[in-house]
Amino acid sequence: MKYISTNFKSKSVSFQKAILKGLAPDGGLYMPENIPLFTKDFFKEKRNYHELAFEMIKPYIGEEIDDLTLKKMCKSAFNFPVTVVNINSNINILELFHGPTLAFKDFAARFMARSIQYFIQNKKDQRVVLVATSGDTGSAVANGFYKVDGIKVYILYPSGRVSKIQEKQLTTLGENIRAIEVEGSFDDCQKIVKTAFLDKSLKNNIKLSSANSINIARLLPQSIYYAWIWKKLGCINDIIVSVPSGNFGNITAGLIAKKMGLPITNFIASVNANNIFPIYLKHNKYFPKSSISTISNAMDVGNPSNFSRIKFLYNSNINKIRKDIKSNSVNDIETKNCIFNLYEKFGYLADPHTAVGVFSLEKIIKPNQTGVVLSTAHPAKFADIIETVLDTKVDLPKRLKELLEIKKDSVKIKNNYNNLKSILLDENL
Ligand SMILES: *Cc1c(COP(=O)(O)O)cnc(C)c1O
Repeated sequence: MKYISTNFKSKSVSFQKAILKGLAPDGGLYMPENIPLFTKDFFKEKRNYHELAFEMIKPYIGEEIDDLTLKKMCKSAFNFPVTVVNINSNINILELFHGPTLAFKDFAARFMARSIQYFIQNKKDQRVVLVATSGDTGSAVANGFYKVDGIKVYILYPSGRVSKIQEKQLTTLGENIRAIEVEGSFDDCQKIVKTAFLDKSLKNNIKLSSANSINIARLLPQSIYYAWIWKKLGCINDIIVSVPSGNFGNITAGLIAKKMGLPITNFIASVNANNIFPIYLKHNKYFPKSSISTISNAMDVGNPSNFSRIKFLYNSNINKIRKDIKSNSVNDIETKNCIFNLYEKFGYLADPHTAVGVFSLEKIIKPNQTGVVLSTAHPAKFADIIETVLDTKVDLPKRLKELLEIKKDSVKIKNNYNNLKSILLDENL
């Protein structure tokens, strides 16, 4: 399979090149040149999760990774439960947060880490992965690359602006993972990382890779659970899936699954107050904005990077996009009410991101449709918010409790690129 840029101005490249580069030279995102089509019968066949993953990912990789290795990669990457909870006659919650960092980003990060490891294993060089995080991405990426030979990960996070649990997840791994605490905001962290990627004198000495959601290796593994849930629900006809969305990687993966032949009727791009996408659908005008802070902070994105991939999939045809994707913006009060109602009526504990998805689904679903909400984070990760809404304590899973006991290990730097540069050169030359 060849990969082409959504800006159409760069040469097509192999899977290996696409994932090691991240961004295309023309600034576009890589997309597969064509989407393989499967039959409905294929999706009905009995398989376990990692077998389904192997079959669906294989056409995108072709001969670049041999079958046996790819099978092993899928088996070790997707080795945690994927569970469905039935809420009422037409709402189901697909829990994608049972991986090591308790957010759905584990699916993407674990597969990407294994792919990058595969392509660099025979080269003697050391690769440095830089990632800026507002919380969840950093720990999923760090866990994915943990103890992988030949790779060192530097996670930049904004000092004092991630939750206590998130910080411990970032700063207690050790080994090949370094946590850099930046005296600044998430945007400052992202700026420092971008500066590093543009710094020729750094790149002449160190091989850098990016691990943020522009990487196509993070998208492919997210298509699988859409097919998994369709089969789990009995291969029925009229399914609508609500996806809590920020950078729109997760929903783009669902749209790709539909293009591969999976019979899902509609998707809902469920967003918080950052409502660029619903406005785009309504007025056919795309106005990126700076992001607004909400209680579903992993979705505080004012210019979703995967928007160009959605346009690419639909040849920019707004009417086709409107037919497949609905969208709804949910404010913090509605989110809290939804957390409250789910607990009071159904005894279900939802994190704020999942609640945004449930609220939108209830608003948009038609009476005869079957609804699915992708649950993107474990409620314990957002215990502080949930405990302000519900009169109950949220239990931390054992491994989070243990984390809180471990001493944090990070390097604090001023908001200045040169501080990062000297650390990178010191430790990697
Ligand atoms: C990253 C994230 C999202 C948003 O996913 P996108 O693919 O960026 O749309 C939603 N919920 C949680 C908990 C996340 O960490």
